[in-house]
Amino acid sequence: MPATLAKAPAAPRDFAACSGCSLCLLVCPMWRRHHDPRLTPEGMAKALQCGATAADLADPVETCSLCGACDPVCPERIDLSGMVMELRHQLAGALPPPGLPPMERPALFAELQARMQHEERPAGPSQVSLRSDTVFLPGPALRADPAFLERTVALLNLPVFADDGDDIALALELGADIPQTRLQSFVDSLRGHSIVAADGLLLRQLRRWLPGSKRMGLGAALCSRAAVRSNLAATDLYVIEPRACHADYERMVIYYNNLQIEIGCSLSLDLQRIAIPASAPGLRHRLGLAAADDDTQARWILRGRTPERIVVEDLADIAAFRRITDIPVVHLAELGGDPTMIRKTARAFN
Ligand code: SF4
Ligand code: SF4
Repeated sequence: MPATLAKAPAAPRDFAACSGCSLCLLVCPMWRRHHDPRLTPEGMAKALQCGATAADLADPVETCSLCGACDPVCPERIDLSGMVMELRHQLAGALPPPGLPPMERPALFAELQARMQHEERPAGPSQVSLRSDTVFLPGPALRADPAFLERTVALLNLPVFADDGDDIALALELGADIPQTRLQSFVDSLRGHSIVAADGLLLRQLRRWLPGSKRMGLGAALCSRAAVRSNLAATDLYVIEPRACHADYERMVIYYNNLQIEIGCSLSLDLQRIAIPASAPGLRHRLGLAAADDDTQARWILRGRTPERIVVEDLADIAAFRRITDIPVVHLAELGGDPTMIRKTARAFN
């Protein structure tokens, strides 16, 4: 791995720096699925250079999965996923609502408002763990499956943080405003903790909101457990959750490279496929307003590979692969054996 990858990242630039090299198309699931230059990061950057508004770009902005795969490949260091988030934020304030059917978008914002105004949120851990300052933010997908959450928590041996910022994660997805008081209380409650977060978008923003804090995604946290890691095999294809990876890619590419050297497995991370997602839901898919449409993306990850098993970090990727292959698909948490074997390690933390 080149030593330069370990250096502090240079400041990101904006769309004005786009040279039109098209490298971002190689990794973008929107491009792979649609082959439409308008549905690409380059297309958005070029349109913005020509004076397009957020409303003009509603289609790509809402089709983008915010996977972040375009960020590390851009030679001009443009914060492309940040650009899409900013456009989504501008769209959220626009009337009439673009992209989504008009009856549905207000309902989502009303749901968000209800979540924001939810009864006072407890600020501390809901369980006590042994001398750990690390807390776990599981998010709604894991909370929806109590048995899976229980298994994950046992493997991590971490307390579930009572306030996992699900409303803030939804606001980020929608591009909605986050009330300053709500954001402040959430961030303040996490201050002084190391954080394991299942939501990669939230993780990305925590890097900005809590600079210097120790954070990692759920996949890396689970994979750091001996009970899980010891059950990975050289014949596995290990599929990374891209949002958490790209939220901190300078560090994570080294982490995953070391994992590959240690286990010998293949990863969804190579020169052409830089931690691209297996499932790539846009805003409409994530919010349940459109059916999943991941087959092209999952097939692209499998192309040229014949693993005996697929191991995924992201729960959503299980369904994406099971639709297109008979190869067994398991989540990392399913690899964990006896939780008493768990060895605490923080090798994936920054
Ligand atoms: S974040 Fe992902 S889907 Fe969106 S433009 Fe970048 S690569 Fe494409
Ligand atoms: S990789 Fe960066 S510079 Fe090249 S086309 Fe994409 S956004 Fe523009």
